[in-house]
Amino acid sequence: MTGSSLTTIQQNCIYSIKAGEEPLSADIGIIRGKKNTLLFDVGNGEKARSLLQNALSTDSFPSSIIIVLSHFHPDHIGNLSYFNAPETTIFQGENTYKYTNCGKIVTRDLYLEDGNRYHLFPLPSSHAKGSLGLEINEEYAFLGDATYASRKNGIVVYNAQILLEEIKTLNALKARYFLLSHQEQFVQEKQSVLEQLQEIYSHRKKDRPYIEL
Ligand SMILES: [Zn+2]
Repeated sequence: MTGSSLTTIQQNCIYSIKAGEEPLSADIGIIRGKKNTLLFDVGNGEKARSLLQNALSTDSFPSSIIIVLSHFHPDHIGNLSYFNAPETTIFQGENTYKYTNCGKIVTRDLYLEDGNRYHLFPLPSSHAKGSLGLEINEEYAFLGDATYASRKNGIVVYNAQILLEEIKTLNALKARYFLLSHQEQFVQEKQSVLEQLQEIYSHRKKDRPYIEL
């Protein structure tokens, strides 16, 4: 029942459009709810847009759209202008709102029910301020780029305090699988992602706010 542009993550429920280059475009999550189709990020550029448009029109997804934006980077929100109110509801972190100027701001855990159980949660991240994650049916969690580092004066770094908070937040999730944007392996085991982050955190140095990689 799905077009070839979609990767199936969970039958009849969770799909994705793979990330692309030129222009850089993040993975898009497409989740079939009872009354709404939920998109996690909307990608960037004409190619991602037409793949998304094609999927939404041919695969019998509900026409009412809920969009959850992971963070403000253009490869995740670039195609947002294609979606219009009133059929579309947008959720995002406070910092992301500065770039979109539309939709709702999420500052604490938010639960939605639409055939699926959705859990939106603020996610401390070195990569981008105001990151938001999405847990579905306590089984899968879309994390966008939140587990990645940032660049400071050309050096790849994690903020040690933020990383610790991020590990705690992720540890508390019930989902067994984490979905990481731009990765060849989009769906990863929660445990293995947490082990990698803990390994990075173990390299922190006393009185140094940043962990340099
Ligand atoms: Zn990013």
